[in-house]
This record gives sequence, structure tokens and C-alpha cells, in this order.
Amino acid sequence: MDPISSLIESFSKFPGIGPRQAKRFVYFLLAKDPAFREDFSLAMIRLGEEITQCVSCFRYFQKIHEKNGNCPICADASRDASKLLVIEKDVDFENIQKMRIWDGMYFILGGSLPVLEKEPTKKIRSKELFYAVQERAKNGTLKEIVLAMSATTEGENTLQYLDTILPPLAEKYELKITALGRGLSSGTELEYSDPDTMKNALTNRR
Ligand SMILES: [Zn+2]
Repeated sequence: MDPISSLIESFSKFPGIGPRQAKRFVYFLLAKDPAFREDFSLAMIRLGEEITQCVSCFRYFQKIHEKNGNCPICADASRDASKLLVIEKDVDFENIQKMRIWDGMYFILGGSLPVLEKEPTKKIRSKELFYAVQERAKNGTLKEIVLAMSATTEGENTLQYLDTILPPLAEKYELKITALGRGLSSGTELEYSDPDTMKNALTNRR
């Protein structure tokens, strides 16, 4: 396959990008100078070489900060390990960290569930969440799971799905399961919520 078609095919696999947009990206790159393309491809190579995924929260972070497979947040003993915040995406993690409104641990699901999703375990890390909760509850550290989903249809649907998975564990280990108080106006993705709203939603969790 020629490089133009091959790159169009790659961009088409991006979330929300169709073949027409993919084509625009490729012609945009062709119009840029060679240095831009070089930086771009180097950044992509560095993603693979320098970034890794945390074995505990599943977020992506720089390998140089790794401690026994854990990211700096999961390895930080000063954080409150009795609380686990379950979020959809890496960007949600970044925002909440920036807002400095959470001192507990994190778990990143890796997405949310569309209504009537046939293979939920392929779409989100629900199995991984189950084992993470079980592990942390068994040794007595975990007390509360906070489900922080977006106020969207997919977010609601994800909440409902997790509600079929977590209650048996919650009962067995006496864990509290809470969800964000709905200060978020409906339709809002967590990543677009402002610090005050987010803080309220966390404080008013139930
Ligand atoms: Zn981590």
C-alpha cells in the first residue's frame, strides 16, 4: 500500500475519525515541512518507548517514574488507600489531579459503555476493576469505591453495569459504594466539568 493510503487507513481507526477526515490529516501533514513530520513521528515512537501503563490504576505514565510497575500516585504511601475513585479516562485523572480535590487512589476504566453494548468487558476494564477491588479489600485497606462517571447516557449506563458487578464484593468486604452527587449538569462529560462543580460532586457523593 502506498504511504498516503496507509496513513489514511491508520487515522481512520482513531475514535470519531472517518475516512474523509483521515484524508484531510494526511494532506495536512504533506503540506507541512519535513521537520514537523519528523517531530510528529518521533513523538509517536517515544510514546511506545517511554510511556507505560500502571499495573494498579491502568493509567499511562512515563516509565522513568515507575516503581514496581506502579505509577507515582499508586506508589505514594501518603495517599489515602481506603478510597478508590473509578473514572472513565486518563484525561479525567489529569483534570482531577490538577484540581487537587482527591487524596485517594484511582482506577481508570478506559472508557464508558454505550447502551446495549454486547461486550462490556472488551470496552471497559470491569474485570480488572473487580480484581483490583477484591485485592484491595481483602487486605483490609479499601473501604469506599467512588464511581465518578460522566453525566451522559454512556456514563449512566456504565454506572448501571458496574452496579451489577461491585455489590457482591461490597457486601462481602463491607465496602461503601458511592457515586458523584449530581452537581454536574446532564450531558456533561467529566473532562469538561469545572473545579467547583467537580469538587461539589465529590463532596456530595452518596
Ligand atoms: Zn497507578
